Amino acid sequence: MTPEEFRKYGHQAIDWAADYLEHPERYPVLPAVKPGELTDALPARGPEQGEAMEAILADFERLIVPATTHWNHPGFMAYFGISASPPGVLGEIFAAALNVNGMLWKSSPSVVELEQVTLGWLRQWTGLPEDWFGCIYDTASTSTMHALAAAREFADADCRTKGARPGMVVYTSEQAHSSVEKGAMALGIGQDNVRKIAVDDAFRMRPEALAAAIESDRALGLRPCCVTATVGTTSTTSVDPVAAIAEICRRYGIWLHVDAAYAGSAAVAPEFRWAFEGCEHADSMTTNPHKWLMTPVDCSVFYTRHPEALRRAFSLVPEYLRTAGDPRAVNLMDYGVPLGRRFRALKLWFVMRSFGREGLAAAIREHVRLAQELARWVDADERFERTAPAPFSVVCFRYKGTDEENRAIQERVNASGEIFISGTVLQGRFTLRLAIGNRATTEATVRRAWELICGAARGGAAGA
Ligand code: PLP
Repeated sequence: MTPEEFRKYGHQAIDWAADYLEHPERYPVLPAVKPGELTDALPARGPEQGEAMEAILADFERLIVPATTHWNHPGFMAYFGISASPPGVLGEIFAAALNVNGMLWKSSPSVVELEQVTLGWLRQWTGLPEDWFGCIYDTASTSTMHALAAAREFADADCRTKGARPGMVVYTSEQAHSSVEKGAMALGIGQDNVRKIAVDDAFRMRPEALAAAIESDRALGLRPCCVTATVGTTSTTSVDPVAAIAEICRRYGIWLHVDAAYAGSAAVAPEFRWAFEGCEHADSMTTNPHKWLMTPVDCSVFYTRHPEALRRAFSLVPEYLRTAGDPRAVNLMDYGVPLGRRFRALKLWFVMRSFGREGLAAAIREHVRLAQELARWVDADERFERTAPAPFSVVCFRYKGTDEENRAIQERVNASGEIFISGTVLQGRFTLRLAIGNRATTEATVRRAWELICGAARGGAAGA
């Protein structure tokens, strides 16, 4: 590709992206494809000779886009909504063009220093302690696994050389994300050594049950090493009582990790700070700007007050990567499994500067307002019942009927192509779950979603 061609197709690509982001609703939110259909439509072997960009772009539109779930669609209300905000997309373009690998300060000072600066800003915006160290990983699952590794290192300094000792135990709630268990599996702690602590009727970890579990494990000679509390659980966005949990962790000398993958972004708005009470006593915390902070996937922020524990767990410097030890020249490879790393801070910096804290807070505030509006409509309709409190922008509710009827409602709504909602099981019953988190979603979208849900509940085809 010549520089002129790159310029030409680059302009076309930006035009496409601008049109797409202006009207993502032109596409059905869920693609009408069957498993394997895209694979079958693509050649089984890659081309021997390079192909014309026109052909590649045409196939992108003809084959790839129709097989895509449109997370940018205003009606995307499943899982947690995310947003490819234009400033974030521009940041991604520059990161791809620079194509640097930020393993060491020397391998690209901009990656390392911008990461420290943006995470310093975010720490201030979300009210976290000034002395916490931050770094960016790909996902919250990776962040949490690193928290568990640091916690284990903290509990057993020989772990690095001698390997994992048996008897390490991790605690989290019944409502925690599966990544806590997965992290324990990956580190050889083992699923059987993850205690899923009972929750109260608002789906929050019960501190007294946590303390009892720790006591009973200690009596058996086991080694409690980490508690993972969640601010904004995946199913209901419930908020564990972090302050009480932190007190228990302090009493027993256990590392406290806070998983705020979704809700952490809400701390940029002062009225949601209540949810983070006690987080200042945590040993580590994760939040995903790629969930609710307008930053394109992937970008998960990890903070810890003990960066030395992470370094002890992960720093291993081969001769070819040795550099002079200037304390301001942070080598990010020392803080985790990956050696190489993308320039993820660039898109976050674009987003933070373009929106400002107030712009981001306003977007989050509006999503919460829309969710609270929906919660009121549900409460006012006697055919439905809410199945969990809605502290943020997710509403869990069900039609007062059978699980099958609720699953049928979800299927009918999702078949509309206009709205995509997910479901979960709470207290043994299937429940509908509507999450608001995309910048394109408006009050009209939420009204339409409710209309489709009510239509589906009447048994007719959604939208009929
Ligand atoms: N933690 C919580 C509370 C989540 O809701 C999720 C995903 O939704 C995760 C962790 C995992 O996120 P990731 O995909 O970044 O690993």
